[in-house]
Amino acid sequence: MIIARSVSELRKALDIKGGSIGFVPTMGALHIGHRTLIDAARKANDMVVVSIFVNPTQFLPGEDLSKYPRREEADFKICELSGVDILFYPDVSAMYGEDEVRICAPDVRGFILEGASRPGHFDGVLTVVMKLFNIVRPTRAYFGKKDAQQLALITQMVNNFFMDIEIVPMETVRESDGLALSSRNVYLNAQERQEALKLSSALKKATEIVMQGNTKSDYIKARMEETLLPLDVEYVAIVNRAFESLDEVVIGDTIVLVAARVGSTRLIDNVWM
Ligand code: AMP
Repeated sequence: MIIARSVSELRKALDIKGGSIGFVPTMGALHIGHRTLIDAARKANDMVVVSIFVNPTQFLPGEDLSKYPRREEADFKICELSGVDILFYPDVSAMYGEDEVRICAPDVRGFILEGASRPGHFDGVLTVVMKLFNIVRPTRAYFGKKDAQQLALITQMVNNFFMDIEIVPMETVRESDGLALSSRNVYLNAQERQEALKLSSALKKATEIVMQGNTKSDYIKARMEETLLPLDVEYVAIVNRAFESLDEVVIGDTIVLVAARVGSTRLIDNVWM
């Protein structure tokens, strides 16, 4: 595995091998969720590139940028054992200069739900992903459905800017009790870890209600909110794949989303129907 710490090192490494490139952008503290993205990239491409970069521009002031988990040694081992060909591991100065051009998230879809809770977050996400895509020039890029709005906005950016990259959505990987894997789960103490299960329980409840034939969004959201008590809920939402609010679940075109704070940790989860 080649570890590239600068854009020029990465470009040199990419020149050695030809063929299709599968790309998995991450912020590190790798877990099985990241592994499934890497495995999928491995299977479908001649070469796999993973980036690990805790992107400062997607964190708002007061968020967890400085304490975001960093696991250099373990992450390098996981990448190596997963058959990653090139690991891009830049520092902030390799990625950003002064007074730069930025990508703006769309006015509506970029500023609802996650974008309302974290205004400006998606500008930072789209800017860094644009930079990474231009450096790596992947054939396919792999993103988790767990970050559903991020996945939708990156797909939109690729379409809006006529970029020749296939975005591959990947299912959310969960612990056996339902908790969605997240690098931020390490912030949870034992009691919070238990309370965090309320997010996946609420989504399970939504699925049960729909399977029983009730597709009314208001009813489903009310039952989910009951399940989430006493967590500090930021939003419960039912939208279509274009992130437009739905009064009723449409099977095949619905995402049910939840964001809540467990102690001081902000968690998100969703289910696609
Ligand atoms: P992150 O390191 O949190 O920025 O995540 C990097 C990529 O891994 C993103 O595309 C995430 O959506 C994806 N990801 C994070 N958690 C999971 C999970 N539990 N299952 C599948 N993909 C995930």
